[in-house]
Amino acid sequence: MRMEDEFVSIEDIMAGKYTGESVKVRGWIYRTRGTKKLRFIVLRNSTGIIQVTIIKGELPDEEFEAAERALVESSLWVEGVVREDKRAPGGYEIQARKVNIIHFAEIFPITKDKSDEFLMDVRHLWLRSRQMTSTLKIRSTVFKLFREFFLERGFYETHSPTFVTGACEGGSTLFPVKYFDREVYLTQSWQLYAEAMIYSLEKIFTVAPSFRAEKSRTRRHLTEFWHGEVEAAWMGNEDMMKLEEEMMEYILEGVIKERRADLEYLGRDISFLKEISPPFERLPYRKVLEMLNEKGFNLEWGDDFGYDEEKALTEEFSQPFFITHFPRSKGFYHRPDPENPEVLLCHDMLAPEGYGEIIGGGERIWEKEVLLERIKEFGLDPENYSWYVDLRRYGSVPHSGFGLGLDRFITWIADIKHIKYAIPFPRTPRRVTP
Ligand code: ATP
Ligand code: MG
Repeated sequence: MRMEDEFVSIEDIMAGKYTGESVKVRGWIYRTRGTKKLRFIVLRNSTGIIQVTIIKGELPDEEFEAAERALVESSLWVEGVVREDKRAPGGYEIQARKVNIIHFAEIFPITKDKSDEFLMDVRHLWLRSRQMTSTLKIRSTVFKLFREFFLERGFYETHSPTFVTGACEGGSTLFPVKYFDREVYLTQSWQLYAEAMIYSLEKIFTVAPSFRAEKSRTRRHLTEFWHGEVEAAWMGNEDMMKLEEEMMEYILEGVIKERRADLEYLGRDISFLKEISPPFERLPYRKVLEMLNEKGFNLEWGDDFGYDEEKALTEEFSQPFFITHFPRSKGFYHRPDPENPEVLLCHDMLAPEGYGEIIGGGERIWEKEVLLERIKEFGLDPENYSWYVDLRRYGSVPHSGFGLGLDRFITWIADIKHIKYAIPFPRTPRRVTP
């Protein structure tokens, strides 16, 4: 028998699968209390928590004493009979016949009411909290569903380099790195490379980290974040928005189905998520500018919407929505609308409840002359983009794509207040450890 076959999951016990049976469970001490004759250990592992009742005399004395000495986070396995007991958390407990402490933990530094900063300092230990465990399970499911959605629709997963020489999202957030005797950058997005790869694979996606030296610290920016990016030949801006709507529905449905208990543990209002259903509203930038100025902002054509603007805008929405037709300053690669070149055929998708932008996407310029003109307009050096321009010389086709900030998306799905709780080891301007 393989070692893991001996052990059952707490989740299965809680589902009533082993009531009355003798089982073995392993994990860590979540809580411990007791008297000289009776000890209650709440045991936790990745599948849940369960109370273990240890009665002196029902197992060897050395084992009872070891259980008495073992502090929170000690690792152990126990063997005993599963009993239904309304007083126990979750309604089941194990009456121990055998307790084997694997490692006696030192005094665990995390106790109740520790500051946020402290919990960040000991993130390597805080990951064991139920809050982080639930969040990371939701995260795993969202990543799986993202991949699954695109694979099922004939997209190929493919990859772009992390060391790059050109900016995709503006020079101000580039991270320079020493690359032997020259300076290169960490990638901000796979997009420019994706545009080369569609000529062989047509429909592609990636899941990879992107890096941005975001100096403005907000609750939705990391310096290293996980980017779910998609690019497809023969698709226009509106096609891409439809695909994003379908993806959104697919992921939300899947995550509610597979991670209900974790969402509930985090206090997410699931009924709100269940109501989300495309099509989502499409609002042109011009209209959004008016809406915001009516709310007291003082914005001019071309201004970017930051956190405050998006928060004010999305608080009243109960569905995600798109902002479309941004001004020309939004990015050099977006395709100007042939019917009104003052605006671009691109979009952002904003999440409701104050969360704001989670997706940026749109149609890319596919005509060489237009691209060269835009590179000039942005004051970029065409030399740095020569291979990118090349793609417009040999059988160029209309194409579109988008980037979804997976950490930000998870922040919204789980209704977590800060993006740093959506990733195991967050990277922010002030923090690169642990
Ligand atoms: P923002 O205006 O919020 O900085 P952006 O316009 O720079 O976003 P895009 O370049 O369109 O974002 O990137 C696509 C998506 O990647 C965004 O919609 C967002 O979900 C995510 N994203 C961008 N920057 C970050 C970041 N610093 N941390 C986490 N996610 C990010
Ligand atoms: Mg940004």
